[in-house]
Amino acid sequence: MHINRSLFDEVMVPNYAPSPIIPVKGLGSRLWDQQGREFIDFAGGIAVNCLGHCHPALVSALTEQAQKLWHLSNTMTNEPALMLAKQLVDNTFAEKVYFANSGAEANEAALKLVRRVALNKFGADKSQIIAFKQGFHGRTLFTVSVGGQPAYSDGFGPKPADIDHAEYNNLDSVKALISDRTCAVVLEPLQGEGGIINPTPEFIKGVRELCDQHNALLVFDEVQTGVGRTGELYAYMGLGVTPDVLTTAKALGGGFPIGAMLTTTELAKHLVVGTHGSTYGGNPLACAVGLAAFNTVNTPEVLDGVKAREQLFRDGLNAINDKYQVFTEVRGKGLLLGAALNADYAGKARDFMLAAAEEGVLLLMAGQNVVRFAPSLIIPEADVREGLARFDAAIAKLVARLNAG
Ligand SMILES: *Cc1c(COP(=O)(O)O)cnc(C)c1O
Repeated sequence: MHINRSLFDEVMVPNYAPSPIIPVKGLGSRLWDQQGREFIDFAGGIAVNCLGHCHPALVSALTEQAQKLWHLSNTMTNEPALMLAKQLVDNTFAEKVYFANSGAEANEAALKLVRRVALNKFGADKSQIIAFKQGFHGRTLFTVSVGGQPAYSDGFGPKPADIDHAEYNNLDSVKALISDRTCAVVLEPLQGEGGIINPTPEFIKGVRELCDQHNALLVFDEVQTGVGRTGELYAYMGLGVTPDVLTTAKALGGGFPIGAMLTTTELAKHLVVGTHGSTYGGNPLACAVGLAAFNTVNTPEVLDGVKAREQLFRDGLNAINDKYQVFTEVRGKGLLLGAALNADYAGKARDFMLAAAEEGVLLLMAGQNVVRFAPSLIIPEADVREGLARFDAAIAKLVARLNAG
């Protein structure tokens, strides 16, 4: 059988448009495709592979657990799930954990929790959810409706009701919507898919205060920012604002599917037996790998290393920009960085990504105008330098080609 990109078109639902490159092996921050071509990975499976590919601690956690126990369902608990939950509780504001299999599912649990808490404590009228334009929370119908891109939620019939969207970093737009009817405000403490937008300190503190004034819960979607990505274990820790509910997924499993919702005992008590659940949630394989990933990331060496690597990326990208004048700014935090294209290259983030892949470095977009970087948190300095050199070569060719045409 010929396994190539055209087989995708033959047998797969066409909701993705994957690259023609088919990687078959990964090690650290390098990938190799079917033809043996080597790539430096600045994409990290969209901020998932926090320890690169095939990290020895994750490989041994997975293979050891695979010899012991794969699955039970939630009619029984298991040791890896309890150990990971204990670590999450011991290292964050949270006191209780719910396990899911993805970011969207963790958010679905958070949204159902805040609705149920509001119903129990204040009555059915307190159901409004405030979220943000350009926000992203997943692709289930509830989470995509809370997300701030109507293009993603339109066309699937009636949406879950009573969701309003304010403008990120605009506290007045939140004030205009919030009232005692508001059950929760949901936000990413650094917008990812929406273009790598940092919250201002006034905005994030102001939202917390508004929530407190109106008995609304504050939900932080840390699916992309969590588990070391910003150089803090969770982004909220660097903002001086603590949410009531936090969701985490992507990097939590380092490449194995897992998600979690974290909250307080006081709120968690509203999800009584039978209110919510998932067959695979808390799966022993996922939690064993998650535990190894969490413990490996949650060290001063790795977290401080993220900050050092951020500087390396910023210096390298600024040097590239001095040569080619393609970016307006490099923004984001830790190893979730965005290079925003200037007006000359507006809408061309995809061209940058394709040109980079051509030169042997994989990166991401965040909208049409931002080139996104979300590499391994432990990417070797040499790989950062080599990847940036390849990106430099890609931009040289792209700029020449665009200016010629
Ligand atoms: C990726 C992402 C999600 C969705 O996670 P899935 O695992 O794809 O369901 C939700 N929120 C944020 C902020 C994300 O970046």
